[in-house]
Amino acid sequence: MKRKIVAGAGLAIGALTLAVVAADSAVPVDTSALRAAVTVGNARLHQFVLQMIADDNGGVRLAGTQGHDDSAEYVAQAMTAIGLDVSIQPFEFVSFRPLGPSDLSQTAPVPTVYVEGTDFEVMAQSEPGDVTARVTGVDLNLVGTRASSSGCEAADFAGFPAGDIALIQRGTCTFQLKAENAAAAGAVGAIVFNQGNSPDREGIINGTLQAGYSGGIPVVDATFARGAEWANTAGLVMRIHTNVERQLVITHNVIAETPGGRSDRVVVVGAHLDSVPTGPGIQDNGTGSAALLEIATQMAALGIEPRNKVRFAWWSAEESGLVGSQFYVDNLTAREVKNIALNINLDMIGSPNPVRFVYDGDGSATPLAGPNGSKNIEQVFLDYFASQGMATEPTAFDGRSDYGPFIAVGIPAGGLFTGAEGIKSEEEAAIYGGTAGAPYDPCYHLACDTYDNIDEQVFDEMLDASAHAVLTFAMTTSAINGTDKGSDKAMQAAASMEMLGSHARQ
Ligand SMILES: [Zn+2]
Repeated sequence: MKRKIVAGAGLAIGALTLAVVAADSAVPVDTSALRAAVTVGNARLHQFVLQMIADDNGGVRLAGTQGHDDSAEYVAQAMTAIGLDVSIQPFEFVSFRPLGPSDLSQTAPVPTVYVEGTDFEVMAQSEPGDVTARVTGVDLNLVGTRASSSGCEAADFAGFPAGDIALIQRGTCTFQLKAENAAAAGAVGAIVFNQGNSPDREGIINGTLQAGYSGGIPVVDATFARGAEWANTAGLVMRIHTNVERQLVITHNVIAETPGGRSDRVVVVGAHLDSVPTGPGIQDNGTGSAALLEIATQMAALGIEPRNKVRFAWWSAEESGLVGSQFYVDNLTAREVKNIALNINLDMIGSPNPVRFVYDGDGSATPLAGPNGSKNIEQVFLDYFASQGMATEPTAFDGRSDYGPFIAVGIPAGGLFTGAEGIKSEEEAAIYGGTAGAPYDPCYHLACDTYDNIDEQVFDEMLDASAHAVLTFAMTTSAINGTDKGSDKAMQAAASMEMLGSHARQ
């Protein structure tokens, strides 16, 4: 993994005054001093500490484990030391993690062992289990459009032999409902294969049954090709072994807010602090976590007194389905929702094969616009990067990170991203360098997401842009027009989000 030290640091320094794009007031905010104070070197020190914490705790900082608890303690102490008001918000949730390799095999008619990560994967939040049984398909549609509501209705299981493994096709309803219906029909296990109705619905689903799953049976997901093959195999008997652990654990969000600033115009700046169960999460999301630590530290060091209260939040259990940020929003009163002006989310901002992505607040280039006001946040980022002569790309509000619960209640949101499992295009490589045809982050959700899995130049650029946006909104006098807060319109927008966290839910 190549490392680059920032050569062009001076780029961002020099008075930069940007008028906030609110029609009712133009507020010049000079962020150059803060951007000069915020350094990638300091942020990297925070990441080094997170790496050491992971090293001391089995290589992970998963919510509910000592690795995350120590990370949260580090953040709380650091923010207390600079004079912010720190609070800990505990909550419990069902944690899920693999304990080792799982197995899927055919025992009849042709003994075959399938490959985890290629042919199949354990669905997140599956129960542990080891079952071998005949396989029966449930309302499958392998031809034409492959439209599917397989397993969505109890009637789909009419005549289903209890004790069999249910073979189910993706489509229409959540994996949780499909698996629970199968269990209710007497299935001892379930295989959910991808729908096969579009190119991005052929491979492994990487799905979740979500923390509320109560089917009690082991569930794996598989490629469409394998699913179709099994559906056409007479006398099929298979073994499902899910080597995983599910347990109710307690974890907590860490909240640190400025003592000063209007508490009816709160700027919430969030980043999840937890890692996946398979790696230390120094890119995902040690970058966002360190950025918040560094921006807060330098704002305090410069004696900045924000006009609007800034609330930094290190969410837990994002990797289990945005659980921490959802818990936070669910426990806000209507007044507290109204008092939040906006949410800035930073999740993965130092990818080793990066692109500078800005959340597409107005949905001008991607399917979903954020609540009213999100466009303003996007514009502040776009204007900043333009002022630095830096290109950017829009990225969708697909609900895959902790801004999801905020926009669901109408709070405008924005943020930055540098890419995860997506593949860099030739055009992007021509603009941003790096490797076309390769993932933005080859170590996404893997053990190699370590201290070395960072591009320091893009991390530095994203740090400065984040500092600029945080200070711009901390000092602005405009209301950011969050008129959707708590409205039905916001709920409708949320309902259309299919992706939740890093796993698909349907
Ligand atoms: Zn993440």
